[in-house]
Amino acid sequence: QGKRLGRGKANYFSEALGRAARERMQLLSSLRAAFSAEQLSLVFQPQIELASGPVIGAEALLRWEIEPGRWVPPDQFIPLAEQSGLIVPLGEWVLRTACRQLHRLTERGHTGFRMAVNVSHAQFREPGFVSMLECVLADSRVAASQIELELTESVAMDHIDDINTKLADIRRRGVTIAIDDFGTGYSSLSVLRQLNIDRLKIDRSFVKELDGTHTKAGIAQLIIALGHQCNLALIAEGVENAVQRRSLLAMGCLEAQGFLFARPMPIEQLEDWMAAAVSNQDQPV
Ligand code: C2E
Ligand code: MG
Ligand code: MG
Ligand code: MG
Repeated sequence: QGKRLGRGKANYFSEALGRAARERMQLLSSLRAAFSAEQLSLVFQPQIELASGPVIGAEALLRWEIEPGRWVPPDQFIPLAEQSGLIVPLGEWVLRTACRQLHRLTERGHTGFRMAVNVSHAQFREPGFVSMLECVLADSRVAASQIELELTESVAMDHIDDINTKLADIRRRGVTIAIDDFGTGYSSLSVLRQLNIDRLKIDRSFVKELDGTHTKAGIAQLIIALGHQCNLALIAEGVENAVQRRSLLAMGCLEAQGFLFARPMPIEQLEDWMAAAVSNQDQPV
């Protein structure tokens, strides 16, 4: 009896696993199809200078509308793309598209704009990554210094010397590097201190805790102190209210993005939004 029950359970789990695997396969093949059919797009979320308010740039974020009005969140399809290797061509497309939009913004008078692009570990570790980057920069005729790559702490899982050689290669060209979702990964402080980067991006989970009290400032404060100590710039993600904005600024984090300022939006809307932001600033307070 017990044996039969046990087997039944095992079958149940293997069926459930089989089903989950099949669903992932199906989602991956629709993703491949959507990518070939050019059905993926980018939206842009403004990044703000906290003290005085102007837009300094935007982060490009991938969107997949699987059918009209139905979006698959990147947290679901990016891991699939990473596991299958699709992230390599897909990530190149993201970089190319972001650079093209940056070029367009520059031509329309938005100079000095910084474009932040997410790069997966799987993409970064490809031997051809730096030459791909160089090629895209040359093709799109944007200034390398206006591109920032967002990598997560997982890059530091590889051999630190190899990583630093690659990072140095990228930074020598003028491209800057931010560590995304900082504080959620496993990188040790000693590795971090050695990492050849420009900026720490404070994860949303630590920004969320900021409620104006000292007790809750904890981790965000630590990250900011760490950034100052290591001579790194800081940006906060997921700023949703004025209390968080004020706390970050008081602690010395000078840049941020989040729903308080703007949600990610298509490029045409971003231009309108920037025009409106500028005219708001012109108004006497
Ligand atoms: P991320 O790079 O940390 O991007 C920030 C995420 O936080 C975005 O979610 C953004 O919409 C969301 N967000 C921004 N401000 C707020 C806020 O104030 N409150 C809240 N609750 N959320 C906020 P999204 O667009 O769903 O992207 C999720 C993740 O998917 C990204 O996290 C990034 O890891 C990945 N991703 C997106 N696009 C790409 C891409 O082109 N390449 C790669 N490799 N990964 C990407
Ligand atoms: Mg990011
Ligand atoms: Mg992030
Ligand atoms: Mg995040």
